[in-house]
Amino acid sequence: MSALTQPQTGGYGVLVDLDKCIGCRACEVACQDWNGRRAVKTEFSPTFTNPPDLTANTWKVVFFYEGQAQKQIGSLSLSQISIAPVPYQCMHCLDPPCARACPVGAISVTKEGAVVIDKDLCIGCGYCQAACPYNVPRQGSDGKFYKCTLCVDRIQAGKAPACVEVCPTGVFTFGPIEQITSAARQEAAKGRTVYGLDLTDYIGRGTRWIYVASPDRQFAISQRFPGKPLRSLGVLKGVPKDRDRILSRACRRRLSRARPSGMAQGEIKRKTRGS
Ligand code: SF4
Ligand code: SF4
Ligand code: SF4
Repeated sequence: MSALTQPQTGGYGVLVDLDKCIGCRACEVACQDWNGRRAVKTEFSPTFTNPPDLTANTWKVVFFYEGQAQKQIGSLSLSQISIAPVPYQCMHCLDPPCARACPVGAISVTKEGAVVIDKDLCIGCGYCQAACPYNVPRQGSDGKFYKCTLCVDRIQAGKAPACVEVCPTGVFTFGPIEQITSAARQEAAKGRTVYGLDLTDYIGRGTRWIYVASPDRQFAISQRFPGKPLRSLGVLKGVPKDRDRILSRACRRRLSRARPSGMAQGEIKRKTRGS
């Protein structure tokens, strides 16, 4: 398991106010567009969630959940079936388990707080996916893993992420992580449900995408983010043992790519030692 040396404080975050989301999916489209992801043909599904899940090509998906919403009308408390959309992408964990699990150091945290995968270094072993509590990184047809980048290229150019900028109802508040966590604590003090602050049950500690919802949409948070993490730290236990095997496989692959045709494996080894 590699130690994470990048800063875990500072940088940016996003507050997601689920009460304001109307499920228009403009954020999905903006993400595809800005990040050069190809448009995908979708099919009607009974859940409205469309496309149905994150993929290597789709980094943001609006999930729809159905639940019982409590409405208070004067002294009367009513329960009714309600549908709530939840825009979802990489959570950009403060202490990302995916980066710790990666045996070749292909995942790093930028000074903006974005957790990014270096496609050129990724060897497609899948440890990031196994370690991610949110089941985010997905394997592409080239064998490498892909996910949301927090639009770090836009942030570095002084802009907000594409999904944040396009949302017509102001669901997302983007800003320095200290301001975002402080705003989230204020919402919690008002009695709203908050997810992403002070997570103690998994290695990621907290997330840079923090979700808030009022009681009548709280069910969407508990369905999207179950009390227990989707992955446990147990999956990381095999990493140090397996790392040598994975690395040697990756090195063999790289050497075979670097080897001029006609040159035997032994020759390149001798050459490497002699140089
Ligand atoms: S663009 Fe805003 S309102 Fe529309 S689905 Fe995304 S978060 Fe919800
Ligand atoms: S949500 Fe998953 S992929 Fe994203 S930073 Fe956290 S562990 Fe890594
Ligand atoms: S931050 Fe950028 S890459 Fe991430 S979901 Fe939003 S638009 Fe997509």
